Amino acid sequence: MNRAVLPVFLAVLAGGCIDTSLPDLTRELGEGRTDGPYCTPDVQSYFPPEELRITLIDVGQGDGIWIQTPYFSDRETESRNILIDAGPSGNVPGTSPGGAVVVDYLLTHGLVPGNFIDALIISHAHEDHYGGVPAVVSMFEVGRYADPGYDAGSPGFLDARGRAESDTARLNGQIAVPAVPNLVPRPFTKTDLFGESVDATVLWAAATPPSGNVSDPSGTDVNNTSVAFAIRYAGKQVLLLADLEDEVERQLISASTNGEIDLRSAVMKVAHHGSSSSTSLDFIARVFPAPSIDDWAVISSGRRSFSGTTLPTVETLDNLKQILLPGHVLSTENRDDLKTSGTEHGDDHIIVSIHADGSVEACYAQ
Ligand SMILES: [Zn+2]
Repeated sequence: MNRAVLPVFLAVLAGGCIDTSLPDLTRELGEGRTDGPYCTPDVQSYFPPEELRITLIDVGQGDGIWIQTPYFSDRETESRNILIDAGPSGNVPGTSPGGAVVVDYLLTHGLVPGNFIDALIISHAHEDHYGGVPAVVSMFEVGRYADPGYDAGSPGFLDARGRAESDTARLNGQIAVPAVPNLVPRPFTKTDLFGESVDATVLWAAATPPSGNVSDPSGTDVNNTSVAFAIRYAGKQVLLLADLEDEVERQLISASTNGEIDLRSAVMKVAHHGSSSSTSLDFIARVFPAPSIDDWAVISSGRRSFSGTTLPTVETLDNLKQILLPGHVLSTENRDDLKTSGTEHGDDHIIVSIHADGSVEACYAQ
C-alpha cells in the first residue's frame, strides 16, 4: 500500500465501513430476499423519450447513480445527465473499482468519451462515493459540480474534489461547494440542477455534521452531511437519500409533518446502503402511505458489512418488505453471496423508469 493510499484506507476503516470478512448472505438474508424483475433487452439498450430514468450502477459497496432526465424529440440536446456519486476507486484493498464500472456503464449506454455530464454531485466525503471521481472526470466533461462542503479531513476527497472542480472550471461551469448555500439557499428548496422537465428539491446538505462525534472527521457522522434530493416527474417522486442516518431522517419526518416537504414517493433510493442506521418503519410509512405496483425501494450496496453486519441489513429489508409489494425491493448486492471481496460489482445494475403516464418500473440489468 503506498503512502497515498494509506490515509484513504485508514479513513475507510475509521468511517465504519468495510469488514473484509465474508458473511454468509444466504444464511443472513435468506434466498431470494431481493428477488425482482429482470429488464428486457429493450429496456437495457434503449432510453426512450418521455421517461425519467434512474440507474443504480452496480459499483459494489458504494453509490454511483446515473439520472437521465426526459427528452421529447432529441435526446442529445434535451436530456440531462446527472451523476450522483462515482463509486469507490478500488484502490482500497477489498473494494470494487466503482469508478471504472461507472465509466464503462455510461460508455455502453449512449455516452462517448468527452461527453458532458451536466452535473456531478458527490454526496459526501466517504471513499465509496467519491473514489471514482478521477476515473469519471478523466473520461467526461463536467458542467456543474456540487458536494456538501465538508471534506472530513480526507486527502483523497480533497483530491477528488480538486479534479472535479478543475474539470468544471475549465468549461466555466458552476461549482457549488458547499451545496448549501451555493446551490440552494437552504434545504427544502427547489433546484434547477435536473433541468426543466423534472421538479427537484434539495432535501439535505450540511457543511458540517449536524451533531455527533464531529471530532472524528472520518466517522459515520459524515453521512449526515450528505446531499439528498427529491425529484418529481409525471406526478411521481423519487427520493435520493445518499447515506443519511436517523438523526436527519427524523428531521425530514418533522419537515413533512410541518408541510415543508412532501415525502410521499414512488421510489426510494434507500439511505446508507440499507444500513439499520436509517429507514425506520415510521419513515417508510411516510414515503409509501398506500403502497401500489408503482412503488419501489432500491438499494446500492456491496455484500460486505459495516461493523460486522451485512448490507442491506435484515432489519431494513424486513421493514421495507412489510410495506411494499413482493418483488419491489431491489438491491445491487443481489446474487453476490458467492462473490469475494471487491468483486461484487457489475452484474446487477438497477434501472428505474418513470413513464409519462406516471407508471413506474424497476428491474435488474446485467
Ligand atoms: Zn456509503
